[in-house]
Amino acid sequence: MKQGHIFIIAGPSGVGKNSIIKYLSKNDTRFKKIPSYTTRPSRPDDGDSRIYLSEPEFQKLIDNDELIEWARTHGYLYGKSKKNVTNLLKEGYLLLLEIDVKGLKPYRELFPNLTAIFLQYPSLEDLKERLLLARENISNKEINTRFETAKQEMTYANLYDYTITTHTGDNSSIPGKKVEKIINTILNNKPIN
Ligand code: 5GP
Repeated sequence: MKQGHIFIIAGPSGVGKNSIIKYLSKNDTRFKKIPSYTTRPSRPDDGDSRIYLSEPEFQKLIDNDELIEWARTHGYLYGKSKKNVTNLLKEGYLLLLEIDVKGLKPYRELFPNLTAIFLQYPSLEDLKERLLLARENISNKEINTRFETAKQEMTYANLYDYTITTHTGDNSSIPGKKVEKIINTILNNKPIN
């Protein structure tokens, strides 16, 4: 059986990573979403994208070297199972992995053939507007913190193979189709290994 391929979908908070992954995996059974372990509480729109653990449970995964990499974001831990990714890759699936922009390096070391896609905002004004719209219930201070973090995260774009700009009000199918185009290019032109 053919080996699969890893597609990393990264980008600053609120840029639309999860909606694009949902869009792609809904329309094509070759895709598999890889859930992240996290210590944060569940949110209504998480779907099956998160597996919830306590801090000690997460720490055990770190200690046993079961995670590809892990990160602490806004106080909570996030990481994905090495075994889950490796097994599904061997089974020939196209894996869609959402990570924060800083997490790419360990993935490249472990899976050098992966394709990394960076989602970005068209401008800093747009970013602020989107944070305000999407996070109605959080304080101005928190909005400012997230704005500064996202601004800094945008500087990671050059580490990625492809960059896609997402626009406020876009239906997920618009950036979703752009990602699909990249995926088709990769699958048609590159040996999959
Ligand atoms: P949220 O709490 O909004 O679900 O996620 C917070 C941040 O953690 C997002 O930027 C998300 O992409 C990132 N994240 C989710 N899973 C992982 C992971 O496995 N590794 C890393 N480095 N970041 C992750």
